[in-house]
Amino acid sequence: MKLLVTGGAGFIGSAVIRHILQNTQDEVINLDKLTYAGNLESLGQVSNSPRYTFEQVDICNRTEVDRVLAKHRPDAIMHLAAESHVDRSIDGPAEFIETNIVGTYTLLEAARQYWQALDNAERKANFRFHHISTDEVYGDLPHPAETANADEHLFTEQTAYAPSSPYSASKASSDHLVRAWQRTYGLPVLVTNCSNNYGPYHFPEKLVPLMILNALEGKPLPVYGNGDQIRDWLYVEDHARALYKVVTEGKPGETYNIGGHNEKQNIEVVHTICDILQELRPQERSYRDLITNVKDRPGHDRRYAIDASKIQQQLGWAPEETFETGIRKTVQWYLDNLGWCRRVQDGSYQRERLGEGAGA
Ligand code: NAD
Repeated sequence: MKLLVTGGAGFIGSAVIRHILQNTQDEVINLDKLTYAGNLESLGQVSNSPRYTFEQVDICNRTEVDRVLAKHRPDAIMHLAAESHVDRSIDGPAEFIETNIVGTYTLLEAARQYWQALDNAERKANFRFHHISTDEVYGDLPHPAETANADEHLFTEQTAYAPSSPYSASKASSDHLVRAWQRTYGLPVLVTNCSNNYGPYHFPEKLVPLMILNALEGKPLPVYGNGDQIRDWLYVEDHARALYKVVTEGKPGETYNIGGHNEKQNIEVVHTICDILQELRPQERSYRDLITNVKDRPGHDRRYAIDASKIQQQLGWAPEETFETGIRKTVQWYLDNLGWCRRVQDGSYQRERLGEGAGA
């Protein structure tokens, strides 16, 4: 197969490309604009492969997207390119509307034209447009601090959309567009909604790498509010395996929720990171002493948790890492790759607080 992966220089996209090139015989075309979040160094292990090609293209640029499709003639598109950080969406929603909504629309139209023009019936029938989305489109779930039976509530593929942030609203819009292109034009689409990922090559603005890097530099560990927000954590390589399964074995028109069965409060995640660092890089003062509670994110969702039984039953996917094994690997990876962390921050971002909102 020839797979066109958008956003392949980002956190999850690079894991998907590494997975495909290291475990299959497929070819990959990585289409990425290289925003602040995209870094080709994340593909260093595989970029010499003769089965890998890079195209620096903005998904909003229809002419360029058409050129790439005509040149490479992929069998499937895995669409991961997006603006992905909730805090940045609070400070500047415009780019989220542009890339996540207009960009997805542009890609869908280009894909539709390309797919409709395929003259080989088998290639046409087997073509797939796989849209990679988030569980944040569902809004938030009851929290155990407020509801006795909170753990009975999980996001299923039938849960109604109720996004809270400009980021999740833009992703929800793109999900609707993708499904409409299937209903209206018959484009063979797949949608996946996944919970919070963590792992290697994660840009240092996100919770896990931010905490590791700040702790190592003896800087405060900013925890939003009281830190009791719950997320369902999935190791990024488990997500990459799930996505490959969906694009190769999923049924067109279907949605699959992907999650790690690892509900943790943010504060628990931070404590775990501090404790692993204490073991791997012991110091006299506990890393936990660096924890500082800061003003909560506006509109902060309280709890996310995924019911991943559909993908488990229908496609036989289950996560291989527990939170304990995955977070240990992740901390070790950051300790071994501080050079990557320095280079991707590139002077333009110093792990400052983002997204306090207009009322801050
Ligand atoms: P990321 O921010 O690390 O990477 C995004 C990539 O997209 C970057 O390489 C960037 O250069 C590229 N990009 C941005 N705008 C572009 C444009 N206009 N044209 C072409 N390329 C562009 O994001 P991520 O965490 O890897 O997330 C990938 C996808 O998975 C996103 O769609 C996100 O919504 C979804 N998702 C993320 C998580 C998570 O926990 N990180 C969870 C579920 C779903």
